Amino acid sequence: MKVKLSVSAIENGTVIDHIPATNVFRVIRILNLEFDTQHQLLFGDNLRSQKYGKKGLIKVSDKFFEDKEINKIAIVAPTATIIEIRNYEVVSKKQVEVPNEIINIARCVNPNCITNIENITPHLRIIDSKEMRLQCHYCEKITTQKNLSFI
Ligand SMILES: [Zn+2]
Repeated sequence: MKVKLSVSAIENGTVIDHIPATNVFRVIRILNLEFDTQHQLLFGDNLRSQKYGKKGLIKVSDKFFEDKEINKIAIVAPTATIIEIRNYEVVSKKQVEVPNEIINIARCVNPNCITNIENITPHLRIIDSKEMRLQCHYCEKITTQKNLSFI
């Protein structure tokens, strides 16, 4: 499989490609890679992309993401591609899929929502995956991508 990478290859780990150009740091933050001292992190922003004009890219050595983390990536970077590399070979490459709903991943924007007051698991439905608008299962308030805060 041919993959053109703009920074050096990694032996084992994950490449998150086709991140919207301005969301690279947000993806780094939601994956808790900011203060991670175990994994080597390489990233680029405003890289040229034939498909999207400009894009961001992140590479994390010796790390493979779980579904919950991939769902977070899908919410802030719906165009992202997850490429898993083992022994310098691409073993899997797939575009993230925006889920229909996320449970215990992000908070409802409404400070008076029962999920923010009592010990109730936040449950948001994705009602618009382009603008990324999420509706609370409990109070029905809309949370937008801009004011989304992850758990
Ligand atoms: Zn709510």
